[in-house]
Amino acid sequence: MSKQFDVIVIGGGPGGYIAAIRAAQLGFNVACIDEWKNATGGPALGGTCTNVGCIPSKALLQSSEHFEQAGHHFADHGINVSGLSLDLGKMQGRKDTVVKQNNDGVLYLFKKNKVTFFHARASFSASKDGFYDIKVSPAKDVAAPAKDEEIISGKHVIVATGSVARELPGAPFDENMILSNVGALRMGAVPKKLCLIGAGVIGLEMGSVWRRLGSDVTVLEGLPTFLGAVDQQIAKEALKAFTKQGLKIQLGVKVGEIKVVESGVSVAYVDAKGQAQVLEVDKLVVSIGRVANTAGLAPEAVGLSLDERGAILVDGDCKTNLSNVWAIGDVVRGPMLAHKAEEEGVAVAERIAGQHGHVNFNTVPWVIYTHPEIAWVGQNEEQLKAVGRAYKAGTFPFLANGRARALGDTTGMVKMLADAATDEILGVHIVGPMASELIAECVVAMEFRASSEDIARICHAHPSLSEATKEAALAVDKRTLNF
Ligand SMILES: Cc1cc2nc3c(=O)[nH]c(=O)nc-3n(C[C@H](O)[C@H](O)[C@H](O)COP(=O)(O)OP(=O)(O)OC[C@H]3O[C@@H](n4cnc5c(N)ncnc54)[C@H](O)[C@@H]3O)c2cc1C
Repeated sequence: MSKQFDVIVIGGGPGGYIAAIRAAQLGFNVACIDEWKNATGGPALGGTCTNVGCIPSKALLQSSEHFEQAGHHFADHGINVSGLSLDLGKMQGRKDTVVKQNNDGVLYLFKKNKVTFFHARASFSASKDGFYDIKVSPAKDVAAPAKDEEIISGKHVIVATGSVARELPGAPFDENMILSNVGALRMGAVPKKLCLIGAGVIGLEMGSVWRRLGSDVTVLEGLPTFLGAVDQQIAKEALKAFTKQGLKIQLGVKVGEIKVVESGVSVAYVDAKGQAQVLEVDKLVVSIGRVANTAGLAPEAVGLSLDERGAILVDGDCKTNLSNVWAIGDVVRGPMLAHKAEEEGVAVAERIAGQHGHVNFNTVPWVIYTHPEIAWVGQNEEQLKAVGRAYKAGTFPFLANGRARALGDTTGMVKMLADAATDEILGVHIVGPMASELIAECVVAMEFRASSEDIARICHAHPSLSEATKEAALAVDKRTLNF
């Protein structure tokens, strides 16, 4: 007889591993199956986020920012650095260590919470008697394949198989010359000239890393608007800062033929003025979005429905068309963010336990970890105008914030939007230092449906960047104290 579990989680990324842990905490007998392997064939839990996403990108952003500071800004502090050089191998090695610490951390958490882990590929096999049979096949080239294929059965299945980078037609990833996020994070030498197609979160973060390390970086974006999903006052400020740093961002381009040539990669495109251009670069990174990953899952074996884009079809509660089969994270609709996947994982485990897990999509924060960082939660000015909502806006520049001046990091602002009648905060948009951390206060405020006056009346430590949030709240009522 096959091994039986209360809950089988397919995928060990942030959605899957968190769902498995929460389900185990709630008393279920849980299995999690994940096929990702490290360089030596061992398990590498944590999915895209830990292996080729959030964590390695932030490690390289940190290292490259140190390099930039040492090279260009330490002198402002009276610190003279001579003989500055880059050991990219060491920098990449540090990044790999950070990734491994996170991989091992998840493995430890599985042991602690008694989650049974299979380092394998999972696919649906059949459903019978209220159970789903899942085929567990040894993942390719793993160090210690468990045994041959086996079938395990689960009363509930949570699919968390994530996403993969979208390819440009005619330019498949080879991860040597034409790179996805995977190759962009592991280059062994700094390319002299680098082109990124797609000025979204990943394109801007990767472009920033390699520019800081010395590449001449061009970013080509098809849309005419920079960061169209971001409040445009914030996006304009960010574009100014990135351009000043030397990122060459071209909007409204139409990419044509891409060829790997002797000297590198040639990218033909038509620019916003309609002029035909050809860019010759050493490497090309394509970051034009990600697609749901159901390869090898065999959804058809049980009749699991996908939408027209290949994502698993779910309702607001992450229920699929099959009873007791759930799907979360990047493989379903909604923002492709690690923390969104995690919240869905917790909510689904709690729903399986008969509780009322819930994800408030309106208060999911977004962050771009460039310098300056960009972070936001809730509605932006363009969205409020589009639905005719009456609002008040308050902004406060970091230039007028004492801590930002002491840090030498005064680019950007906090912008708060509140309902014109009730003063409830509808959105907060930040471009500037530590925006990723500052946004947390605004998320809490919005979860508790705070007004801008609530933030304005809370005592914030001085000197701190968070005072800019308080001042933006005061600005909603046109009474900033420091500007
Ligand atoms: C460069 C980059 C930077 C990013 N930075 C951020 C960031 O700063 N913040 C943020 O919130 N988000 C970030 N993201 C997005 C984030 O990584 C994803 O939203 C998140 O990983 C989604 O989690 P998930 O659990 O849904 O899927 P994934 O993390 O993709 O995990 C899916 C797992 O399922 C496994 N799997 C798939 N199919 C099978 C199968 N059939 N059998 C067994 N295992 C299977 C995969 O091997 C993988 O381990 C970034 C992404 C990239 C690419």
